[in-house]
Amino acid sequence: MDVLGLGGGAAATPDPVDELICSAKGCRAGATWGLLWNNPRLHTPQRRKVWLACDDHREHLEQFLSARGFWKRTVPAGELDQQGPA
Ligand SMILES: [Zn+2]
Repeated sequence: MDVLGLGGGAAATPDPVDELICSAKGCRAGATWGLLWNNPRLHTPQRRKVWLACDDHREHLEQFLSARGFWKRTVPAGELDQQGPA
């Protein structure tokens, strides 16, 4: 399947299904954290959006979300399966 149209070489590209990649712009590091957030203007209160973060970007992304009042909590990436990301 080539749903995203990303075919055509780049054999080094990791499988996006199995790899959790940091959500920070331009970062391709593996994510070790999941930031759970909610924008009350767009989402119902129960809804949780998830950003993935590597160790280097976790704090930066938390601050970005906190500054907007969106940040809820951060969990280890390994626990995201149990969180059932929206
Ligand atoms: Zn990163």
